[in-house]
Amino acid sequence: MKRRNSLFAIFGDPVSHSVSPLMHNYAFSGLGFPGCYTRYRLAEGSQLRRKFLDLSLSGVNVTVPHKEAAYLACDEVRGIAREIEAVNTIIREEGKLIGYNTDAPGFLKSALAFGEIRSVAILGAGGTAKALAAIFRREGVETAILNRSSGRLEYFVARGYRACDWEQWKPKAYDLVVNTTSAGLQEQTLPAPGEILEPLLRDARYAIDVIYNRQTPFLQLAKTLGKPAKDGSEMLLYQGVIAFDHFTAHRYDEEEITRWMRRAFA
Ligand code: NDP
Repeated sequence: MKRRNSLFAIFGDPVSHSVSPLMHNYAFSGLGFPGCYTRYRLAEGSQLRRKFLDLSLSGVNVTVPHKEAAYLACDEVRGIAREIEAVNTIIREEGKLIGYNTDAPGFLKSALAFGEIRSVAILGAGGTAKALAAIFRREGVETAILNRSSGRLEYFVARGYRACDWEQWKPKAYDLVVNTTSAGLQEQTLPAPGEILEPLLRDARYAIDVIYNRQTPFLQLAKTLGKPAKDGSEMLLYQGVIAFDHFTAHRYDEEEITRWMRRAFA
């Protein structure tokens, strides 16, 4: 097998908080792959491709706010990323930049660890909501979107999802409720009014907040109502495992990669 060059990075703004370098470097050293993973604060998404090439990188992860720019920067986009139109993992393959989205399958793996899911209500209508909606639809899961304002709902309505703002919402039971809004990240606020959220969570089987390392008001409410609930750490871990699998051309067992990357969360 042709050996890849070995420098990888995460591009984003900000990136100082990112745990990705730790995850990937634990896995490189644990698995004996001669790789090094660093972080690079990229202010302009339009510079992504040039920076990738200037730094002679073998692969990158891309975080906020450049996932759409990353989609445009690639020579070829594969898998679910084509539907989502957002890329968080790029590898270099025979001189071409190939893009993937590993957030969506990473989240799915975390969600399915709860058990079977036949329906999901997604709170928020941004980039993460698009990724989750696309992967759940692919799995045949009934998917609804609930957002505080109507502007971003058009994307979902045009694709045939049930998509409502708080005013239009009619109660219905869903197996899983996911918070993809940033409510709870800075301020201690719920992602939707209590009179909508409480019945939604009471009728649900599971809850996930994609925000990680934080007991958000959403997670606290789900737990108060006795629901199995988790934060976004597992999503972060699994998106990293799938990205690493692309970086290293599928040469390692995913369980092994997961075992090494978990150390970053200890
Ligand atoms: P976007 O900015 O694309 O979308 C944010 C959405 O949240 C919008 O629909 C917005 O509504 C809504 N929103 C924002 N603030 C509030 C609030 N106070 N109350 C209710 N709704 C609100 O964000 P992303 O989709 O890119 O990211 C969302 C979250 O997901 C972030 O916290 C990010 O850290 C996390 N994330 C976690 C990952 C992981 O691996 N665990 C991976 C990727 C993201 P409106 O349309 O009305 O403005």
